Amino acid sequence: MPVEPRHAAELDDANRPGDASLPGDDGIEALRRRTVGELDRVLKRRHGGGRVGVLGAGSDDLESGRRYLARLAAGGYAVPSWPRAHGGMGLDPGQADAVRSALREFDAPNMYPFLVGLDLIGPTILAHADFEQQGRWLPRIRSGEDIWCQMFSEPDAGSDLAGLKAKAVRDGDGWRVSGSKVWTSRAHYSEWGLLLARHDSSVPKHKGITAFGLDMATPGVSVKPLVQMNRDAHFNEVFLDKVWIPDSDRIGGVGEGWRVGLTCLSFERGALGGDLGVKVEQLERLRALIPPGDAVTRDLWSARMVEFKIIQMTGLRAQEARKAGKAPGPEDSGSKLRGTAMIKKLAQLGMQLEGAAAVVGADDPDEWQSLFLMSPSLSIRGGTDEIQRNILGERVLGLPTEPRVDKDRPFSDTV
Ligand SMILES: Cc1cc2nc3c(=O)[nH]c(=O)nc-3n(C[C@H](O)[C@H](O)[C@H](O)COP(=O)(O)OP(=O)(O)OC[C@H]3O[C@@H](n4cnc5c(N)ncnc54)[C@H](O)[C@@H]3O)c2cc1C
Repeated sequence: MPVEPRHAAELDDANRPGDASLPGDDGIEALRRRTVGELDRVLKRRHGGGRVGVLGAGSDDLESGRRYLARLAAGGYAVPSWPRAHGGMGLDPGQADAVRSALREFDAPNMYPFLVGLDLIGPTILAHADFEQQGRWLPRIRSGEDIWCQMFSEPDAGSDLAGLKAKAVRDGDGWRVSGSKVWTSRAHYSEWGLLLARHDSSVPKHKGITAFGLDMATPGVSVKPLVQMNRDAHFNEVFLDKVWIPDSDRIGGVGEGWRVGLTCLSFERGALGGDLGVKVEQLERLRALIPPGDAVTRDLWSARMVEFKIIQMTGLRAQEARKAGKAPGPEDSGSKLRGTAMIKKLAQLGMQLEGAAAVVGADDPDEWQSLFLMSPSLSIRGGTDEIQRNILGERVLGLPTEPRVDKDRPFSDTV
């Protein structure tokens, strides 16, 4: 079947212009320092490197994350780019990054369970939901009371997301939705899901999709965890059996679901596109494990550090483009590809340096082992390596685009 890759083709104006009272020429560094001073009153400073970030592995401790978010609530620090009306700081992307950088100086629990809501779905709600919905959903995302999941992929619709088949049929003041979703991260403890479903098969595939907020406690929703090779079961199959969704939970107009999904995916690519959670001090910590005089391993380590720096620089370039109001370019795809390759090699190096210690301790998996077992998933989640290469091929190298013969035909004629 011809495939339309998941493009981050458009970025809606979810990052509202800064409404903070901070003067524009205040200076990003001054803002960072001031934020560090404010955070000193509510958080403890970080000491040492901590564990390597493993994007999900073994991190389902929800209460410590909620306590952390409660400490940040008054200042809006957890959501610096959200408008003040919704509990954020109303900062532009550059200023918001200064706040995030200040936060990194302090102890924090693993916030992975909350990040989809805070960084992807919250901003999508800001871009597409109406004010009543924003007032209902955003405060509970910000406080961590509600965890959200992305209900996009289906057994036959992953890279070709617009080929999704979950069906939404009008029913009174709402909709009945049936179908199945898969790889839905955190669905087993999510309160809400951002759901894409097809309301009309008689129009081309991108046009017949509508987006909904789905209360996961609704009768007809069943969630079945899938166990991964790192022993986590953080993603799920979700079955929807005539699930009723009030029309007041529709996000955006009927038929605007593709736009809503793209907005969310563009935030995801931006979030994944950087260092993928690895921190420079973790690389430094790995260096400390290299035996003295082992020039070969030192050389391997240096190559990882160079890659890490390149990814950081590319991330800065993408950030500058976003600040200037440009839609996400191919930088994020390049960073994701490089970051994925770098993390796989870094995890191998960690395993090699720790030796037997990295593979024992089944009850408390070693952090490098966890990273090693998680790293293949990076080639799939948030758009596969092949799809990133397609984007780079088409948008950077100017290669001919993939044939998309189903683009303008009614969806019902193509399945
Ligand atoms: C850890 C993890 C977490 C995830 N979390 C979520 C989530 O929370 N919510 C959600 O909705 N989804 C989630 N996903 C699903 C993820 O987005 C999809 O797995 C991904 O988009 C790929 O889709 P697929 O698995 O159906 O593979 P397919 O699209 O079937 O691809 C199979 C293979 O074919 C290749 N391929 C496909 N199309 C092309 C093409 N046009 N050109 C070249 N090669 C191609 C792919 O690169 C891949 O190698 C998650 C996945 C992982 C691994």
